[in-house]
Amino acid sequence: MQDPLIHVEDGRIVSVTQQLTATANSSTILNLGDVTLLPGLIDIHQHLAFDASADPVTHLAEVDDATALRRMRAAALRALAGGVTTIRDLGDRNYVSLALRDRFRTGGEVGPEILAAGPPLTITGGHCWFLGGEADGEDGIREAVRAHASRGVDLIKIMVTGGNLTPSLGPHESQYTAAEIFAAVEAAHSANLKIAAHAHGGQGIVDAMSAGVDSIEHCTFFTADGVDADPAVIAELGRRHAVVSITAGAIPGAGPPHPAIAKRMTAIKANHEALYRAGARVVCGTDAGVGPTKPHDVLRYAVSDFLPSIGMSNAEALRANTSIAADVCGIGDRKGTIAPGRDVDMIAVPGNPLDDISCLQRILAVFVGGSQISFGS
Ligand SMILES: [Zn+2]
Repeated sequence: MQDPLIHVEDGRIVSVTQQLTATANSSTILNLGDVTLLPGLIDIHQHLAFDASADPVTHLAEVDDATALRRMRAAALRALAGGVTTIRDLGDRNYVSLALRDRFRTGGEVGPEILAAGPPLTITGGHCWFLGGEADGEDGIREAVRAHASRGVDLIKIMVTGGNLTPSLGPHESQYTAAEIFAAVEAAHSANLKIAAHAHGGQGIVDAMSAGVDSIEHCTFFTADGVDADPAVIAELGRRHAVVSITAGAIPGAGPPHPAIAKRMTAIKANHEALYRAGARVVCGTDAGVGPTKPHDVLRYAVSDFLPSIGMSNAEALRANTSIAADVCGIGDRKGTIAPGRDVDMIAVPGNPLDDISCLQRILAVFVGGSQISFGS
C-alpha cells in the first residue's frame, strides 16, 4: 500500500488506511517520510545466554545468573535495534531467559518479545548438557517436559542429535530413540507447548519428523564427514509442509563459519533449496550467540543474503521471517503482519525491499508496543 496511515492505540494497530481523516483529533501524527514499513522480524532460533564470542560456552560458565541476565538483556536490545522484535530463545541456563522475557512482557521495560524454551532437553553428557536440561529415557523426558511447563516456558527444545558446540557426540549421531522423541512430543503437546527439535543427522531428522515435532532446527543432514540427504526424506518433509528452521546469517565481513559447517555449506544449501521447492515451510533461525559471526542482530543478513540464495523471491524471504515465522511460533494472531488488531510491531527501512532486499540491512526505526526506537536516517 502506498502512503499508508497506521492508526495505533495502546500498543495495538487499530486501522491501516490511506485517509488522514480516519484519525481521531487527539492523535499524534508521525510522518516517517519515504520508508517501507514491515512487520518486525522474528528470529526463531537464538541463544541469548551465549555472547557471540569465540568461546561462548566458557564465558557463560564463568558468570553467575545475575551477570548472565545483564548480558542477555544487552543482547536482546541489540537484536531489537537490528529489527528483531521477537526472539525465540532455544536454550538458556537455569531459565534465565524467562526472567528477561517477563521484564519485557510485564515489567515495564521496552524490549523484544521473547519466547523461551529454558534449558534444552539432552541426554546425560549430551549436546549442551551444561545448560542443565539432561533427561534420559521416556519417563525422564516426560518428567522434564512437565518440569519445564511448570516453570512457564513457551516451548520445549530437544537435542535429537549431537551438535557442533559439544564434542561428546558427533552432530550426525542420534541422542534419542524415536520412542523417546515421541514421548517428548506427546508430553509437550499435552502441556499445550510446541516443541523444536535440534537435528543434524539424517536419522535424527527422520525420527523428529515422524514424531511430529513442530520445527526441525538446522536440518543439515550431516554425516561423519559430509552431508547426505535422502531425496525421499526431503520429499516427505515437503509433503508434510514441515517447518525447517535453517541456520543462516553472518555479519558482513565475517570470517568463515564453523569449519564443520564451512566444508559442508554447498551441500547444505542445495538441500535447503530442495526442501523449499518440495513444500517445506523454510524459516531462518540464526543460532545467534554461538560465535563471533552471529551477534544477536544478525537475522537481517540471513533474510536478505541467505534466503534469496536458496531460491526465494524477495517477498518470500520477507514473509519467511515475519508472517510464516509468527505462525510457526504460534503468535500469528498478534505478530508477523501489519493489520488491525495486531501488536504494534514494525520496522522501517529505506527504499523498497521488494526491489532491493539489501535495504533490510539498514533499520531506520523499530516500533514495539507503544515505543519507538529510532536510529537516525
Ligand atoms: Zn542453537
